[in-house]
Amino acid sequence: MKIFKFGGASSQNANGIRNIVNIIREFYDKNIIIVISAIGKTTNELERLVAAFFANSEEKYTLLDEIVSKHNAIMAELFDNTDSAAIADIQSQFHLLKNYLGKEPSENYNFEYDQIVPFGEIIASKIIAHYLNKEKLTNHWLDARKLIITDNSYREGEVNWKKTEKKIQKTIQRFLENTNNKQLFVTQGFIGGTTENITTTLGREGSDFSAAIFAYSTNAEGVTIWKDVDGLLNADPKQFSDTVQLDKIPYYEAIELAYYGASVIHPKTIKPLQNKNIPLYVKSFIHYKDKGSIIHDFTQKKKIPCYIKKTNQMLLSISPKDFSFIAEENLSTIFAIFAFFGFKINLMQNSALSFSVCVDERSNWQELIEELQTEFYVKYNKNIELLTIRHYNKNSLTKELKDKKIILEQRNRTTLQVILK
Ligand code: ASP
Ligand code: MG
Repeated sequence: MKIFKFGGASSQNANGIRNIVNIIREFYDKNIIIVISAIGKTTNELERLVAAFFANSEEKYTLLDEIVSKHNAIMAELFDNTDSAAIADIQSQFHLLKNYLGKEPSENYNFEYDQIVPFGEIIASKIIAHYLNKEKLTNHWLDARKLIITDNSYREGEVNWKKTEKKIQKTIQRFLENTNNKQLFVTQGFIGGTTENITTTLGREGSDFSAAIFAYSTNAEGVTIWKDVDGLLNADPKQFSDTVQLDKIPYYEAIELAYYGASVIHPKTIKPLQNKNIPLYVKSFIHYKDKGSIIHDFTQKKKIPCYIKKTNQMLLSISPKDFSFIAEENLSTIFAIFAFFGFKINLMQNSALSFSVCVDERSNWQELIEELQTEFYVKYNKNIELLTIRHYNKNSLTKELKDKKIILEQRNRTTLQVILK
């Protein structure tokens, strides 16, 4: 078994979907599960739809029409009047969505989100499954809502690995039992369901994670994520010039990079793959014959500096009003406040009387500061950048520093972090 994941960029128009078919033809030498996420930017559009639905705004129907027309335009290019059954099957999903929008929203925003946003994945996977069938790539459409079992933490469903593994194995086994031929499966990324059959989602960009869940559960020989870049790079090309491709990355290094904020793969993706030693390939869906990058288990010798920049950061400097030391008790109070307001700490440093913390600026930052101020003096700095360099060398920083100044610096043997203004 192999797992292929195609994100929204690969399916944003009819030609993109034809290209997916070419890729499957090229690499279909054994069973494949194809994990599909919503077409183009559909998830963002569906998020706006949820907001309109929740606000009881009639704009919901305009937004729905836009989403439906976008899909219809793609379908008009892929299907013709011999495909009426396929078209009807896809359109039945639009009807289900429209019906849902006619209802009264509950009080739970995250619940409503999980009932609406998954239509992006369901519809995209149906379009692609039917089109593959039309192209003689017969496949089985699998409903991930019944296979990836989560708790009911809406918008960030926690996977029940035992139940999920069992469900996936049983379902796949049924199709493989009475045949010696390779089989093709099409399913959805990003979505799952509870044991009560309520749909959940796994967090934005969660389709990579879904691919890893399917790989883990089927003991797949590999996962390929097909992207609009040639592989993993040592920095985001939108932020840095002179990027280089990383051909091979160990699992632990990929986790470190994701931890510091590299947005190449969903951070939860690596662990299930590492646990079963399943390699992850990141390849270009355009230059699909190129080898791309591979993340697997090996000891890295050649270490290329990797740059991760986080913008929209705040630096808080916190000191106890009673002049006590920054020690365990104060720290645990401070951490509890950060956790309560949902702030993730990206960097911290302390002296005897002051504790400095760099966090993503969230909309509730003023509330956080007010709460801290009951016991501490707080100074803060907004609109700063956090730059992390893994495997830094003495030249790594020079170029990044022009017209910027370092306001805090921290380094260990492998990683250099600076806060810049
Ligand atoms: N479609 C979802 C999103 O855009 C999941 C994914 O693409 O991985 O967040
Ligand atoms: Mg997406």
